[in-house]
Amino acid sequence: MERLWRFETSAVHAGYDPDPHTRSVAMPIYQTAAFAFDDTQHSADLFDGKAEGFIYSRLGNPTVQALEQRVNTLEQGVGALALGSGQAAVAATFMTIAGVGDNIVAASSLYGTTYGLLAYTLPQYGIQANFFEYRDLDRCEQLIDDNTKAIFCESIANPSGHVADLAAMAELAHRHGLPLIVDNTIATPYLCRPFEHGADIVVHSMTKYMGGHGATLGGVVVDAGRFPWTNHSGRFPKLTRPDESSHGKIFTEAYGDAAFIGRCTEVQLRTMGAVLPPTSACMIAMGIETLAVRMDRICFNAGIVGRFLLEHPAVSWVSYPALPNHPDHERAKQYMGGRASGVLSFGIKGGCEAGARLQDALTLIRRSTNIGDCKTLVCHPASTTHRKLSPEDLRKSGVSEELVRLSVGIEHIEDLLTDLDQALYQCVA
Ligand SMILES: *Cc1c(COP(=O)(O)O)cnc(C)c1O
Repeated sequence: MERLWRFETSAVHAGYDPDPHTRSVAMPIYQTAAFAFDDTQHSADLFDGKAEGFIYSRLGNPTVQALEQRVNTLEQGVGALALGSGQAAVAATFMTIAGVGDNIVAASSLYGTTYGLLAYTLPQYGIQANFFEYRDLDRCEQLIDDNTKAIFCESIANPSGHVADLAAMAELAHRHGLPLIVDNTIATPYLCRPFEHGADIVVHSMTKYMGGHGATLGGVVVDAGRFPWTNHSGRFPKLTRPDESSHGKIFTEAYGDAAFIGRCTEVQLRTMGAVLPPTSACMIAMGIETLAVRMDRICFNAGIVGRFLLEHPAVSWVSYPALPNHPDHERAKQYMGGRASGVLSFGIKGGCEAGARLQDALTLIRRSTNIGDCKTLVCHPASTTHRKLSPEDLRKSGVSEELVRLSVGIEHIEDLLTDLDQALYQCVA
């Protein structure tokens, strides 16, 4: 039934009906580690999967499940799994299909920690990553070999703002019998639904726009349920052959279309344990109720801030895919109706020193490395997150000394422009 409602309606209602015990209208927080069995037979039925219900909150919790169903409805998948952070979701996704000797082919425009996971952490467990420049799909194709398990990209990359050509990447992946995995954190399903463009798995940091208030960490994996794992059975033994870590279960037989999310739940979450707390799940689910109205306001504000900065004498360049001057603007139109969420970057004249001065001169806009909050946030990477990097390494990581990143929030636009204008004035003065 939920799928019949429009996005805004599902965001408010999907995943939760007033519970039968109390008729609570707001989603209740089931703050419990475990659930009681009626009797021995009941526990046996639960463990055998013959009865629906809950056993232990690492294996499932009603509040977390309600959030999962809400996100699954918004992304239009066959199943979703919430985890303790975006990073946990990204890591669990790769580990669900890749093991020793395997590799992931990934666009290099990535969130820094995801880049670190692929370039340094997963190799310690035998999973390699090969990177391509996000527009160079010929290179992407060259990197695919017999041990490749997936192609990965961010729909709007953090912090570069690069917009991936999802349809072309999905076509390429499927031609090679591979799934396309997309991190949809910055775009959110309100602006972009990667499954509509051929993606097979979507991951999110719900810490950002989904939760929307900068108060709770969380991540989620969503399975489109369309990838034909059994047609490429030799390549995906973790899904198509008996799995020791799950009593010899064959996930494609046990879960059908939802084999990927089934293994991610039963093996990755159950044994690695990156659980999302029920209180966090409730807060994120509540945040999602206002996702559509927040994103409308954020896109509106960011567009005006972008055009204001473009004309400002203290600013040398502005990078925001919703602006016509951005090299990925056509893609923003193709995949997001010309909108581009709230992350934009610009160059401040005067380099590193001016960037630091601007950051300090802001009075309303908060200095923070986070994004996706209702509050507008600023980060000057060269003097904060990237301060240990040499000018050369800064350039390589795509972060110039003068780069300032804004995550535009939902405040009144005039107040944002006033704060930016007074701070920029102090930098040129
Ligand atoms: C923040 C972020 C992550 C990591 O999420 P956490 O919730 O901080 O673990 C992953 N991908 C993208 C694009 C992000 O912005």
